[in-house]
Amino acid sequence: MFELSPTDLPRITAGALLRVACTGCRVYELRVAKLLPTKQPDNSTTQQPATQQPATQTPSNPYPSNPNPCQSSAGSTSPATDRDAILRGVRDGVAYGGPYHVEIYPADRCNIDCFFCSTAAIRGTDELPLSRIEELMAECKEAGTRSVRLAGGGEPLFHRKTKDMLRAIAKSGLPLENITTNAVLLRDEIASILLGENVCDEIIVSLNTGDAETYASMMQTPARNFERVVENVRKLIAERKRLKRGTPKVFLQFLVWKGNYTSIRRMYNLARELDVDAIIFNGLSFSNRNSR
Ligand code: SF4
Repeated sequence: MFELSPTDLPRITAGALLRVACTGCRVYELRVAKLLPTKQPDNSTTQQPATQQPATQTPSNPYPSNPNPCQSSAGSTSPATDRDAILRGVRDGVAYGGPYHVEIYPADRCNIDCFFCSTAAIRGTDELPLSRIEELMAECKEAGTRSVRLAGGGEPLFHRKTKDMLRAIAKSGLPLENITTNAVLLRDEIASILLGENVCDEIIVSLNTGDAETYASMMQTPARNFERVVENVRKLIAERKRLKRGTPKVFLQFLVWKGNYTSIRRMYNLARELDVDAIIFNGLSFSNRNSR
């Protein structure tokens, strides 16, 4: 198991088994059990299960086609079939299916600077080129991927071509199961893409506190960004109601720590006023080094 960075993303393709874990502020770790080689694989030495069809290659895709026996039913959502394929994969050391759910870090960059950010230390300026995202969607469809998430790394909506990226995902027909964002840039045009029919299931807004003052202190950004986020959420929900859509669901995320727990009531009132679908409370972990 090893971490996957944005520069590795071109290597996610058919056959990779993804495992996703979330931590504190929903900055995700993305790990893969099997990452395809960076060079064209030598099929003569590739481990193949006895029942597996020979891998095929095309000039446009140097990687072996997914040998997943479930693949003929791409889009099949049978939990039993998925479970069997995963279990056989664990046993054989080969990923037979998927990735069923793919999480993409579109950008390493972020427009704010939360003190608790777990990826700040590796913050860069990289982002996935739009063309690569489009290719990735095609590969995911071919692999039978069921849904896509956008998170980071950095702030997904801070990608230089956010609108094109979201349109490309929408056009692919792959459901955007979740986008986790600080929502500073969740403006009308972006919201209208996400409000498209069957485009996006849920948006987690990393607001983290119920007032502008602690927001500015936690997120290390001007307090006016709190009002921006609140306004963006308010407008998105109003538009969702106008369209009579049930999605995207909107969740406010609150990262509880000693500096903001007193604003939980304000967060609750704000959430009721905005009519969001839920508040997600996360806690900063505590480690007593003296007890070690
Ligand atoms: S919003 Fe940006 S700085 Fe804050 S936790 Fe997310 S990636 Fe890190």
